[in-house]
Amino acid sequence: MTPGHFGLAAGAKKFAPRVPLWALFLSTYLLDVVFVFLLAAGVESITPLDPAHPNAYGELLIHAEYTHSLVGALVISALAGWLASRRWERRGGITIGIVTFSHWILDLLVHRPDLPILPGNIGNLPLLGFGLWEYPRASMALELILILVGATLYLFSVIKLSEENRRRAWTASLATTALLLSLFFANTFGL
Ligand SMILES: [Zn+2]
Repeated sequence: MTPGHFGLAAGAKKFAPRVPLWALFLSTYLLDVVFVFLLAAGVESITPLDPAHPNAYGELLIHAEYTHSLVGALVISALAGWLASRRWERRGGITIGIVTFSHWILDLLVHRPDLPILPGNIGNLPLLGFGLWEYPRASMALELILILVGATLYLFSVIKLSEENRRRAWTASLATTALLLSLFFANTFGL
């Protein structure tokens, strides 16, 4: 889901122009950055679903019971937002907080049910995840939408477009998204 996360971060630039792109990119990936540290510390882990094909797209079980628990993700997002607000004011802080948490929402869509609600999966509550990774074409389509819409929003944030050009840019972006989506589905259903 890497390009999808980045597409979303680029799009967020429109809402907080003062926040630099690197900070948006970093926050979209902050949960995984913290995950890597906990992985190194042996607190969290990652295992292939099918050991025979360890590198297959999305074929991974991720045991990120702290960084990727609902409450853990909210805490990390709130901390990141608070830090960012000291540098880029309230608007920047709120944007960074939302972008950080958006990582969890995207993971919720694509992960197999492996996201706990409470850190450390306290109480063994049901694990969350809609498992879109089981449908590689659907998850790639979702990434494409995020990239295209994110890139469009980013362009709007860095280039001053006239009202008319703005409308044209949106139409082109949405038409491209629709075209790619129909290609995906035609492909999926063998049409
Ligand atoms: Zn993640």
